[in-house]
Amino acid sequence: MRTVLPSVTVCLLVIMAGCATQPEAQQAAQKGEKIQYVQVGTDRWLIHDVNRPAPSVITPGTASTETQAGTAPSDAVVLFDGTDVSKWTSGKGGPAKWIVRDGYMEAVKDSGPVKTKQTFGSCQLHVEFATPSRVTGSSQGRGNSGVFLMDTYEVQVLDSYDNKTYPDGQCAALYGQAVPLVNACRKPGEWQSYDVILHRPIFKGKKVVRKATFTVFHNGVLVQDHVELQGGTGWKGPHAISDYEPHADKLPIQLQDHGNPVRFRNIWIRELAD
Ligand code: MG
Repeated sequence: MRTVLPSVTVCLLVIMAGCATQPEAQQAAQKGEKIQYVQVGTDRWLIHDVNRPAPSVITPGTASTETQAGTAPSDAVVLFDGTDVSKWTSGKGGPAKWIVRDGYMEAVKDSGPVKTKQTFGSCQLHVEFATPSRVTGSSQGRGNSGVFLMDTYEVQVLDSYDNKTYPDGQCAALYGQAVPLVNACRKPGEWQSYDVILHRPIFKGKKVVRKATFTVFHNGVLVQDHVELQGGTGWKGPHAISDYEPHADKLPIQLQDHGNPVRFRNIWIRELAD
């Protein structure tokens, strides 16, 4: 009897977990060894259970160099590979008017933003950018652009290399809301990268019931650490930004035309579960 009861207990727990019976678990229980489970949503898995679903296999991308853009992971949606802007439109919906040359696209003053045709919500986004090597202007007038997720929430692009501005509007800021943890800017003209993880806001009627969270790496350095946005990032005046306003579950990625010829390359995205 002393050996039967633990076996029955293990079998019941395994059946409850929805996974196959594991002789090793039964043997461990019979020996009086500790057996642990982990709860994942509605599933319950035996620790080190070989029957637990394994993740899908993908091929990672390659890293970029100063002269050569890298490649995207095999399960990413490539938004710009340096050849054309066919996956983008202008801000008003017509053809994107930014210049494409030498493997990058460049903002054209007064042409407006460009937006992806495809829409996205929660995601992992990779973007590379270079502010102009010929430095002109100061503060918000130097190398300004922006990566807007969900067409709404701006990760600021700015030449913040030896360029003082308000910290919640410098490069890698969540505009108006969150100052980056460090200033990880490279020199003007050099290629830089953002890797952004967004979990989108969820709305119920006019209310936000789960706020957006952002994690951002700038040139591989963590600069926004799971920051919960308290509202929008839209400029509303010298000391004001927008509030949360209900919107669709998926919206385009937008790159901003702020009048400066900022360049972009190697843009890819992976959709995430909410
Ligand atoms: Mg901007």
